[in-house]
Amino acid sequence: MRRLRRPSVVLGLAIVTLLLLCTLFAGLLAPHDPNAIAPSEKFLPPAWEEGGDASYLLGTDQLGRDVLSRLIYGARTSLMIAGVAVVLAAAFGIAMGMLSGFYRGWVDTVIMRLADVQLAFPFILLALAILAVSDTKSAIRIIFVLAIADWVIHARVVRSRVLVEREKEYVRGARALGASNARIMLRYILPSVLPTALVIALIELAVLMLLESILAFLGLGIDPPAVSWGTVLADGRENVAIAWWMLVFPGMAIFLAVLAMNLVADGLADVLDPRLKLTGRFARGAARKRERPVVPVAGGSPLVAGAVADASADPPLLAVAGLRVEFPTDDGPVVQAVQDVSFSLRAGERVGIVGESGSGKSVSALAIMGLLDAPGRVAAGSVRLRGRELLDCSERELNKVRGRELGMIFQDPGSSLNPVFKIGWQVAEAIELHQECGKGEARRRAIEALRLVNIRDPERVADCYPFEVSGGMQQRVMIAMALSCRPGVLIADEPTTALDVTTQAQILRELDALVDELDTGVVLITHDLGVVAEFTDRTIVMYAGSVCESGPTEQLIAEPRHPYTRALLDAVRELEGEEGVAETVRGEPLDPRDRPPGCPFAPRCPLAMDVCREQAPRLVGEDGEDGERAVACFAANPEEVSPHEHAARR
Ligand code: SF4
Repeated sequence: MRRLRRPSVVLGLAIVTLLLLCTLFAGLLAPHDPNAIAPSEKFLPPAWEEGGDASYLLGTDQLGRDVLSRLIYGARTSLMIAGVAVVLAAAFGIAMGMLSGFYRGWVDTVIMRLADVQLAFPFILLALAILAVSDTKSAIRIIFVLAIADWVIHARVVRSRVLVEREKEYVRGARALGASNARIMLRYILPSVLPTALVIALIELAVLMLLESILAFLGLGIDPPAVSWGTVLADGRENVAIAWWMLVFPGMAIFLAVLAMNLVADGLADVLDPRLKLTGRFARGAARKRERPVVPVAGGSPLVAGAVADASADPPLLAVAGLRVEFPTDDGPVVQAVQDVSFSLRAGERVGIVGESGSGKSVSALAIMGLLDAPGRVAAGSVRLRGRELLDCSERELNKVRGRELGMIFQDPGSSLNPVFKIGWQVAEAIELHQECGKGEARRRAIEALRLVNIRDPERVADCYPFEVSGGMQQRVMIAMALSCRPGVLIADEPTTALDVTTQAQILRELDALVDELDTGVVLITHDLGVVAEFTDRTIVMYAGSVCESGPTEQLIAEPRHPYTRALLDAVRELEGEEGVAETVRGEPLDPRDRPPGCPFAPRCPLAMDVCREQAPRLVGEDGEDGERAVACFAANPEEVSPHEHAARR
C-alpha cells in the first residue's frame, strides 16, 4: 500500500473521492437546484469577480442556473454513464479477450477481425447512427454507444496478457493437475489478468467521461432535464464570448477527473500485482494436437528394457512404445522431435532419461502427459497407463488422469507456481480437483502435504505467495502438489536444475525418500548423469530425439557402450576434476531441422564410419546380468553392419 502514498496518487485519490462524494451527495452539496431558472440572475460571473454573487460561487449560465450546482449534479450523470458503459465494455471485452487468447486459432481470428472492423468504424459515425436518428437521447442509448466503442480495448489488452499467461509453467502445471480449460481460464489465468483489466477499466472510465462530453459538445448529449458535464460544456460553447466561466469550469472538471483517474490507475497498477512488492516493476512478463497414432507401433524398439507392455501378469504402470512427436513448420519439412521412444516403468521404479538440451526428453514427457503445445503432435506410438491407452483419451478424460494418477514436477518452480495465489491455496486446489472434500479439509490436507515434503512451518508457508519463499522451498511446494493425490507415476522434468548444488542434493534425497514411502514410479528427466547415477534404477540416454542407449543405471555407468554416453560420462568426470579423462563430447548438438542421413551422432562421433553417415543404426538389445541393455551404434553392434561394410571397416 506504500505505493498509494505517492503524492501523485494521493492527489488523484483526493479528486476521485471528491467526485464520488458529489455523485453520492449531490442533493446535499449543491447549493441550488441545477435546473432552477432565474432570468434575473443570468450570466452572473464567479463570486470573486466584479458583479459576482456569493451564493453563485462559479457564476450562472444563460438561464440564471447555478454553474456549481450543475457541475455537481453533472458529475453524477457523467460518472454513471461512463461507469455503466465501462462495466459492460470490460465484461464483454474481457470475455472476448480470454477466449481469443486462450483458444487462439479460428476463435482468435474471428474475434480479432471483429475488433478490427469495430476499430475501423469511426466513433462519431457510430454515435450519429445510434443517437442522431432518434428523437430521444437517453442515458441507456449513450451507454450503449460508449460500450460498443470501448470493448475492443479491453479485449485486445486481455488477449495479449492471456497469450503470455497461457504459456507459463503454472498453466501447464494446472493442466498436469487435471484442470479443465474453463477452470484454467477462470481460476488460473483470469486472476492473473484481472489486475491489468482493472487498471485499463479505470483508464477507460476517464476516456468514456471524455467521450460523453464530446458527444454532448456535438449536440448528442443526454436530453434535459438531466445534466451532465458534457451538456454544461455544450452550454458554455455557445456563450463563451460573454461568459468564459461557463466553458472553463466544466472543462477544468473534466480535465481534473481524467487526470485523477489516470493517477489512481497508475498507483493501482503497482498495488494490484503482488509480485511488485519485491520487484518494484509492473510489467513482467495445450494445444496438444492429438493426431491419434497414425502409424502403428510396429518398427518401435521392442528390445529396449521392458519397452512394450507385454501380456504378462504384471503389466508395467506406464508403458511408452514407439512414441513419435513431430512439429510441422510453416516453411519447411516436419521436424521430428522424438522418434521411436519406448520404455516402461513399474511401481516404485525410477527411470532416468538423460541427454543434452534438445534431445527430446522434455518433449517426450509432455507428450506422455498430453501437454504438447501446438503445433507439436504425437504422430505415432502408444502411451499406456495401467494398461489404458492415454493417446485415445479425450481432454476431459485426461484431466481426470493428470494429477491423480500421473503427476508432474516442472523445471522452474518460480514460474510453475501461480504468482497471484498463496501457496496453501494452490496445493489445496490440486487436492480439491481430485478428492471429494470441502475447502477446509483441502487446506488441512494441503498443510499435511507441505509437512510431508519437510517444510517445517507449513501453516506459515501456506499463507505466503510463491515469491516470498526460497527456490528450494518453491520446489518442495511443487513436489507436494504433484504428490498430493499420491499418483502412481511421477514425471520429474529437471526438478533441481534451477537450484544451487546443496539444495539440489537435499531435494533429491527428500524426493527419494518420499517416492520410496509412497511406492511411486518416477521418470526423472535430467541432463546430469551424476543425478541419474544417484537416483535411478534404469537409464535411457537420448540424442537428437532418439534413444541411443538404455539399461540398468549401474551397468550403463560402469560400462557405457554408445560413444555419446561415454562422452557424457567423461564430461561429468572432467567437471569433477578426475585425471586422465578422455575427450569430452565435442561439436554442437544436432539441429533437428537439418537432420543428416545415417546416425545422428556421426558428426560428433570419434568412431564414425562410412556406414554411420549412410545408415541409421538400429536400437539393438542384449541381455545383461540384471536386465536388458540396448544400444544404437554400429561400433557397439558390428553385426549390424553389412559384411561388405564390415570388411571395409577392417
Ligand atoms: S553408429 Fe557410428 S557414428 Fe553413430 S555412434 Fe556409433 S560409431 Fe558413432
